[in-house]
Amino acid sequence: MRIELVNTGTELLLGDTINTNAAWMGQRLAALGLEVMRQTIVPDGRAVLEGLQEAAQRADVVLVTGGLGPTNDDVSRECAAELYGLPLELSAEVMDALEAYFGKRGKLVNEATRRQAMVPRGAVVLPNPVGTAPGLHLASELGRERGYGAHVFLLPGPPRELKPMMENLVEPALLKLLPESAPRSVIYLKATGMGESDIVDRIQAGLEAMSGLEMGYCLGKGDVDIRLSGPVDLVNAGAQFVRAQMGDFILSEDRKILEEVVVELLQERGEWVATAESCTGGLLVNRLTDVSGASRVLAEGYITYSNAAKTKLLGVPIDVIDANGAVSEPVVRAMAEGCLRASGADHALAVTGVAGPTGGTLDKPVGTVWLGIASKGVETEVRRLYFPGARDRFKLLTSQAAFEMLRRRLRGIAFEPPIP
Ligand code: AMP
Ligand code: MG
Repeated sequence: MRIELVNTGTELLLGDTINTNAAWMGQRLAALGLEVMRQTIVPDGRAVLEGLQEAAQRADVVLVTGGLGPTNDDVSRECAAELYGLPLELSAEVMDALEAYFGKRGKLVNEATRRQAMVPRGAVVLPNPVGTAPGLHLASELGRERGYGAHVFLLPGPPRELKPMMENLVEPALLKLLPESAPRSVIYLKATGMGESDIVDRIQAGLEAMSGLEMGYCLGKGDVDIRLSGPVDLVNAGAQFVRAQMGDFILSEDRKILEEVVVELLQERGEWVATAESCTGGLLVNRLTDVSGASRVLAEGYITYSNAAKTKLLGVPIDVIDANGAVSEPVVRAMAEGCLRASGADHALAVTGVAGPTGGTLDKPVGTVWLGIASKGVETEVRRLYFPGARDRFKLLTSQAAFEMLRRRLRGIAFEPPIP
């Protein structure tokens, strides 16, 4: 099913309003195994006629948002009727709903609002319980005489009105329109610790060989979503293949991000984590506390930016820092073990690195970071990694690698250095 979106609103073109409707609708439809082929943004006014006309020539379904309001630049209804050559008729059903809506607020329906009760002949009214403008569904047959074969849905622009209408009325209608075919599904496999191009190397050719399977990649914050959609059997086979190729690099299959997975694993085991952070300045605890339920797994976080703090709070001997530098294997080891001792937690993560852009040296260039994990009764593990780039990116990838060390320890799998 070819679906297109036409989002109306001059404010969207000016950049005053972000077109969140398109993003949200894309996600909703993808979750049903449906894909949007194209989005068009048109300004207020009659431009919607052209946008709608083009989309209706290409697509099976056109979803229009906005332009149903009472002002004279809201003309989606009129333009759709014009395109399909349908007269507009006053709907008693919609008038009743409008009178009830306004009556509740002690007002009468005024002339401008009356326009919202006009319905192209034959269109199905989609009631709007949270606003005045109802949606409309012009079935494909209504356009046949004019040479069009697309279902057109006219939907409100304000997200709080659009969302319930989409979920309760449009999505069920779309599922009914689907030709009788194998049920479809979509699976997201989230990978971390491996860059996009390496993922492509491992899985692309194999997935392409499964004809009828649609796939896509979406870069997240330190992770990559591998999206498979299509007929259920094919999606399951594709997912099986991805699991086999990617192994432990697959983080979740329910779109959970790394900190959520880590908090969940700690909760299951009833264990606590503490952090000792230098170059990330608190990002590790920040990310952990973004997750609901963190209070049951996060013991404490030390931000030991200065050498003195590393000594005072974590007991890192000053001569170890002097002899090796703050960004070094012995220091990160002492930070992790000191943090474990001081906090009494089950696991301690430590990071120390050169975020740059200044402070790099020949043997410790900007982007160098040492990570360590200490756990009760288990040998401490440390890694030297390298994330050259902007500071925020460096901090993000460092926190990602630290959580990945913890995730792998909790799952009892070896930590592989991230494949960049
Ligand atoms: P409209 O129905 O086009 O008059 O839209 C009314 C209001 O809905 C606008 O002022 C925006 O605040 C909001 N809106 C319209 N279209 C979008 C969109 N595509 N994404 C997010 N908000 C929107
Ligand atoms: Mg508008």
